[in-house]
Amino acid sequence: MKKTAVFLFTAIVLFACKNEQKQEAPKITVTSIDTTTVRKHLYTLASDEMEGRGTGTPGIEKAAQYIEGEFKRIGLKTYANLKEYRQTFTFTHRRSKKEITAFNIIGVLEGKSRKEEYVVVSAHYDHLGIRKTAGQKDSIYNGADDDASGTSAVLALAEYFTKKNANERTIIFVAFTAEEMGLIGSTHFGKNVDASKFVAGINIEMIGKESKFGPKTAWLTGFERSDFGKIIQKNLKGTGYALHPDPFPTFNLFFRSDNASLARLGIPSHTFSTGPIDVDVHYHKVSDAPETLNVSNITETIKAIAKGTESIINGKDTPTRVVLEERKK
Ligand SMILES: [Zn+2]
Repeated sequence: MKKTAVFLFTAIVLFACKNEQKQEAPKITVTSIDTTTVRKHLYTLASDEMEGRGTGTPGIEKAAQYIEGEFKRIGLKTYANLKEYRQTFTFTHRRSKKEITAFNIIGVLEGKSRKEEYVVVSAHYDHLGIRKTAGQKDSIYNGADDDASGTSAVLALAEYFTKKNANERTIIFVAFTAEEMGLIGSTHFGKNVDASKFVAGINIEMIGKESKFGPKTAWLTGFERSDFGKIIQKNLKGTGYALHPDPFPTFNLFFRSDNASLARLGIPSHTFSTGPIDVDVHYHKVSDAPETLNVSNITETIKAIAKGTESIINGKDTPTRVVLEERKK
């Protein structure tokens, strides 16, 4: 109660001040997404205890249990006919030919009026695990930016939208597994779904470092493939946070993260990122540790995603279906 009153008061003051402070853009006022919680998620998931969250290892089991615990605390429901948050499946590892058991972690926040229209909010929680290299002391690939940062965002957004309690559409929060082995978890998730019920896919990858466009900016993969990005830009107008099209077209990033598995079904599914992938010295290195990340960058970006996707979550906007053809050179 108290929090709401303070929030309302702040909102009124901000609104009242708006006209006098034209030069200064109003901050995004999103309660319940704060650096303390984000830091806790990030440092837990990227800790050495999680052993780099390699698919099929004890480390990823610990990460799965943490995410399940959070989904339960937040109060999410289970997905479709599953009895638990885990969607367990097996697959054969491409190189070793070993059979691996893996699990996506899925939690559902049911829509108020449009229960059969789904918005997916996702990130992959797996990473590279432990790899011993001669002459290298550290062998744990913590995957803090890739993608404990995105998984932290999924948890923070699950809590935010649950507390907000205003989603007309159903939100499906997914921590995908085995992304690093070739988008295996998201591909499994996409099997046998009725794609026509999926309105949008919001995937989050590597948001721990300042983007190429400066502070309070992120970019979106496949920007020109649907009008999803334009909707986000419209919703972010005046907030001081800006979304740009992916600045690294040659990296083919649209097809390199889990959004692609849903996009292949025609769902407007894109990835938000701030990663300086062209110059990132920690990318897929043991040094991708939480200390190298900027927690406020993560928090600001999560708030921007919350605000930016609001009109999709509440059913006012429906992005166009995705265009998959490679763009003409
Ligand atoms: Zn990743």
